[in-house]
Amino acid sequence: MPIAVLATFALPFESLMEIIQNFINGSFSDPVSGLFFDNINPATGKVYGKIPDSDAEDVQAAVVAAKEAFEGWKNTPATDRMAVLSRLADLIAQNAEELARAESRDNGKPISLARTVDIPRAESNIRFFATAIAHFASESHGMEDRGFNYTTRKPIGVVGCISPWNLPLYLFTWKIAPALAAGNCVVAKPSEITPLSAHLFAGLCARAGIPAGVMNIVHGFGHKAGAAMVNHPDVKAISFTGGTKTGAYIAATAAPRFKKLSLELGGKNPNIIFADCDFDKMLTITVRSSFANQGQICLCGSRIYIERPIYEKFKTAFLEKVRRIVPGNPADDNTKMGALVSKDHMEKVLSYIDLAKSEGGTVLTGGHRVILDGDLSGGFYLAPTVIEGLNETCRTNTEEIFGPVVTLQPFDNEDEAIRLANSSEYGLSATIWTQNLNRAHRVADSVEAGIVWINCWLVRDLRTPFGGVKNSGVGREGGWEALRFFTEPKNICVEI
Ligand code: NDP
Repeated sequence: MPIAVLATFALPFESLMEIIQNFINGSFSDPVSGLFFDNINPATGKVYGKIPDSDAEDVQAAVVAAKEAFEGWKNTPATDRMAVLSRLADLIAQNAEELARAESRDNGKPISLARTVDIPRAESNIRFFATAIAHFASESHGMEDRGFNYTTRKPIGVVGCISPWNLPLYLFTWKIAPALAAGNCVVAKPSEITPLSAHLFAGLCARAGIPAGVMNIVHGFGHKAGAAMVNHPDVKAISFTGGTKTGAYIAATAAPRFKKLSLELGGKNPNIIFADCDFDKMLTITVRSSFANQGQICLCGSRIYIERPIYEKFKTAFLEKVRRIVPGNPADDNTKMGALVSKDHMEKVLSYIDLAKSEGGTVLTGGHRVILDGDLSGGFYLAPTVIEGLNETCRTNTEEIFGPVVTLQPFDNEDEAIRLANSSEYGLSATIWTQNLNRAHRVADSVEAGIVWINCWLVRDLRTPFGGVKNSGVGREGGWEALRFFTEPKNICVEI
């Protein structure tokens, strides 16, 4: 089926103060209820836009559009899907600066981070799965003289993609790209806290020629619009990234409806530093793995375990670097640490710092809000915070804080390092610093995590399985894992 090319939509970049709309059946529209709520700039604390307060009626319209589009999209040759998604990746690249500015403004993240990480990765996500689908093959199992089986993999139908606020377009496209590439039609909801880049992305989808109804975006609150997606009988799979508590609710709601589920949830990641590590490299990257994106990356290492012989050396050097990180205007090219995403989130993080003190922790640096000048005085800035003196069982060290807060704790040997690392209910990622090859692999093997980095952090190859164990999630994203999730296998047995 030839791909219908929609009318070109002007990107609303120039109107960043304006109203965000849903994108349903190839058109922008207000929510059926006509209700909107405020979009707040975390850098200033001021309202700068309106977000649709969508509900089940909007989700229903999106699902109907997606169902109607499915027959055409699933029968579109994979090479045509590849072409349209490649055009979308090109458009993201061509509009990268505007998207980065929008992301920084919506989220409070430094513009430099949005430019170098978020938007390039969104482009890579789309391009990666655009080309991956051309290579996706299914299996055949021969039964010697009896016959053989072959397995087909067909798209599921209408799928729901729900994403969080910390890496808005990065995580949104990480789900959408494999879903679309595999031939599904998508109803997606970005976090209500950071909807702007998804809104701009909708315009790019239309310009790329994604047919009407194939890609739909419904904005609004999780408990309304998100829950309506999870509950909808025609949404056959949910790919969710967010908090563990929300994941548990989604699992409980979706399971009796027999939906396919992929859940990427919270983390409390250990960073294990042995005395024989490459100290300078470890130090530079540990500062980044602790505080990048204000510590609001699910993969940040928040529990830092240091082998006792270098504990004091590490503490001194780390604190010296951390004290030099000064929160600043996210829109400024030189800012390394921006604002936290919202007032509520900032208050949550501050409450954990109070908790750490009440649990006997010592705040070595940070621990307080930072008030900037002028227009930025209402922004949600926190000083990067380092705490020591807590054990692994306290709430500070077991609950996800998801902000610029790390704890330091010494260990005496490899067994203890592994025990401490595994003392969490989470199991998303872990980082290990050592020059001892055997130990690196032993510890990597023993740590309960879906992703382990040895002597590096956040180095990503999109072909690898991505996800966590324990309370950090169910299922894996990335590469074939994602394309398998978004397809339904059927085995056909032939006797000869
Ligand atoms: P939430 O769980 O609060 O929200 C995630 C998304 O789910 C949002 O779009 C939210 O909507 C929506 N949602 C909320 N309630 C429901 C519901 N009842 N039904 C359907 N959808 C719902 O997470 P945050 O946005 O606060 O994101 C931070 C969390 O995400 C952290 O725990 C972090 O570790 C985790 N995360 C995990 C990653 C991973 O790969 N494992 C990667 C990145 C983040 P809304 O907020 O708009 O109301």
